[in-house]
Amino acid sequence: MDRKKTDVYRKRLLDKQSDLLRMVSKADQDGREADEEGTQDLADKAANAYTKEFLFHQSNDNRQILAMVSEALDRIKNDSYGVCVACDQEVQIKRLDAVPWARHCIECQEKQDQGLL
Ligand SMILES: [Zn+2]
Repeated sequence: MDRKKTDVYRKRLLDKQSDLLRMVSKADQDGREADEEGTQDLADKAANAYTKEFLFHQSNDNRQILAMVSEALDRIKNDSYGVCVACDQEVQIKRLDAVPWARHCIECQEKQDQGLL
């Protein structure tokens, strides 16, 4: 992939990275605040546990994407960005446009989704 193109994706990845970092640290903070709001009755406690569970899963997803975004930025540094990690073919541009941190081409992603990879 030429440098001009990778620059566009690098910028998008960096934007995404800072968004995710903000969301992850906000979720951590919200989780702590939910703890500190000394709740008394059982309904409050249940709601609180639910909120924490939700925040936990949400920030887990964000952390996973964050890791993939960092990997993609590494691949840009190593000049291997845009190459499928499974079949070494170029990842389709429309796939990178939709998911700039994609590790797999469309075919391999489908196989992975089906548990074949
Ligand atoms: Zn592939």
